[in-house]
Amino acid sequence: MTLLYYHDIFLKHDTGGFHPESPRRLEAILTRLKATGLWDKLRVETPGKATEEDIALVHSQEYINTVKEMARRGGGQLDPDTVVSRDSYEAALYAAGALVDAVDAVMAGKATNAFCMVRPPGHHATPTRGMGFCLFNNVAIAASHLLSRHHLQRVLILDWDCHHGNGTQEAFYEEPRVLYISLHRWPFYPGTGSQGETGTGPGKGFTLNIPLDWNISREEYLEVFEEMLKGQAKGYRPEFVLISAGFDTYTEDPIAGLGLEPEDFRRLTELTIEVARESASGRIVSCLEGGYSLEGLPLCVEHHLRALERQGTGIRG
Ligand SMILES: [Zn+2]
Repeated sequence: MTLLYYHDIFLKHDTGGFHPESPRRLEAILTRLKATGLWDKLRVETPGKATEEDIALVHSQEYINTVKEMARRGGGQLDPDTVVSRDSYEAALYAAGALVDAVDAVMAGKATNAFCMVRPPGHHATPTRGMGFCLFNNVAIAASHLLSRHHLQRVLILDWDCHHGNGTQEAFYEEPRVLYISLHRWPFYPGTGSQGETGTGPGKGFTLNIPLDWNISREEYLEVFEEMLKGQAKGYRPEFVLISAGFDTYTEDPIAGLGLEPEDFRRLTELTIEVARESASGRIVSCLEGGYSLEGLPLCVEHHLRALERQGTGIRG
């Protein structure tokens, strides 16, 4: 069984008319999933709202208050790219809530895996600051919840968004119970994610950055991905796999791109499932991050979900 977490409030995070991270992204995915029948095949769940304590697992109270207050006053900007609208704080609480609910459901055995179709996205949000379209770091909150509530010792966060997830890296830079692996275009926004950034203190060696040249071929990308998964990811023997699933590596993405075609996301997902199956009983929670092509994004998500759904129903292949 594959769960899909979605709430209409995600459409109310209003970034303005011309922002690439717009509600139209989710609307385009919804239209595609309904047209293909995939929407009816998955169990669609409405998430609850994360509590402030959940958010505070990763973020400072001061930063939480900043976002809350900005929304209450009708909106503002955290940086030139990162908009807070009147409903953004609520939307962000539900986005993080989707991750918490999904993790709890998968840990309880209600499903093998889940996809959280949320916005605002999260992986650039650091403990003290929102940036890069991100308010609260959804995937980092899920990982912290797995450590504190479910007492796991080895959580893998696999971040295949085209951008480096600087916020997630920062949240777990000293934490050996979370292995953060990111493949990303580099040099590129936000500037972090060099190979030399590997963690610090007890977290040394538990951050793995794989920076990729903008003109890497699709075949090379898939090779690098497979080698990393069968090597470092598998070797870690994760008890749970979280995916920061950005789809802006899609070849026609208007703000990023790394040459991938929609069907490649099926392959990335299948390889990830193999690792999860081996040490984590298949447990995967995937979270939407970037992906800005309104034509390509729905196709990429569809391939990702088809692979998750096939694993969720126990059909191999
Ligand atoms: Zn991105």
